[in-house]
Amino acid sequence: MNAQDSTSRALPPMIDTHIHLNFDAYDEDRDAVIARAAAAGVARCINPGVDLETSRAGIDLAAAYPGVIYAAVGYHPNSTAGFARAWLEPIRALASSPGVVSIGEIGLDYYWDKSPKPDQFAAFEAQLELAAELNLPVIIHNREASEDVIRILESWAGELSGTLREAPGVLHSVSAPAELVERALAAGFYIGFTGPITYKNADQTRRIAAAAPLERILVETDGPFLTPVPHRGKRNEPAYIPLIVERLASVRQLPLAQIAEATTVNAERLFRFT
Ligand SMILES: [Zn+2]
Repeated sequence: MNAQDSTSRALPPMIDTHIHLNFDAYDEDRDAVIARAAAAGVARCINPGVDLETSRAGIDLAAAYPGVIYAAVGYHPNSTAGFARAWLEPIRALASSPGVVSIGEIGLDYYWDKSPKPDQFAAFEAQLELAAELNLPVIIHNREASEDVIRILESWAGELSGTLREAPGVLHSVSAPAELVERALAAGFYIGFTGPITYKNADQTRRIAAAAPLERILVETDGPFLTPVPHRGKRNEPAYIPLIVERLASVRQLPLAQIAEATTVNAERLFRFT
């Protein structure tokens, strides 16, 4: 047992709110990855879809690990080329499957630019409408599209009511200018922190983490990507969540257990775990 294990065992159970366990990267040892997560104190995971096939795969994982793995369903912006409204129907049908807690990941990506912008916009707005209709929170992907993402989310959230108005979704792996993050927080959104908060060049992300209300922060790995230090360069996995909790604790100068507990309670509130 190393120091990290003993620390995590003493912590309240944590939730990896964004992990692509269905990806090929885990094909060889998925059960072991999930077992290591539990051993590290990560009791639950949310597996977002990036297209129809991966949304289905997430639901299959949720069925195989009930109460441990949950799913989000939706089209990632990079999967929206040729989007038509008929694409919503299978997502609507999947959204009522056991273990589905969110529509996601959805949003805009101007970095890869794999899908034409009009298709990205159409898919993003249509999926936001679907989330409102189904009363499900959203998981938002934003890469170099902060202005447009925040503007669209503000106008969407402004029309909501009830539980969804209180907690409409999360800016996953938050990366945006501080004033835009402020606007998202003001609109009720949560913000998710990933491995990059442990990177040397991430002062801006750490400033956002220091300033955000404690009741709005989540932790996530985004595995297999965005691996935290000291494992950077290798495959990411949910057992590394305590490394992100530790960094948040040091940034906010709060006890580890308080960050572990707050981020879990926040995820339970947003995704309505009981
Ligand atoms: Zn992701």
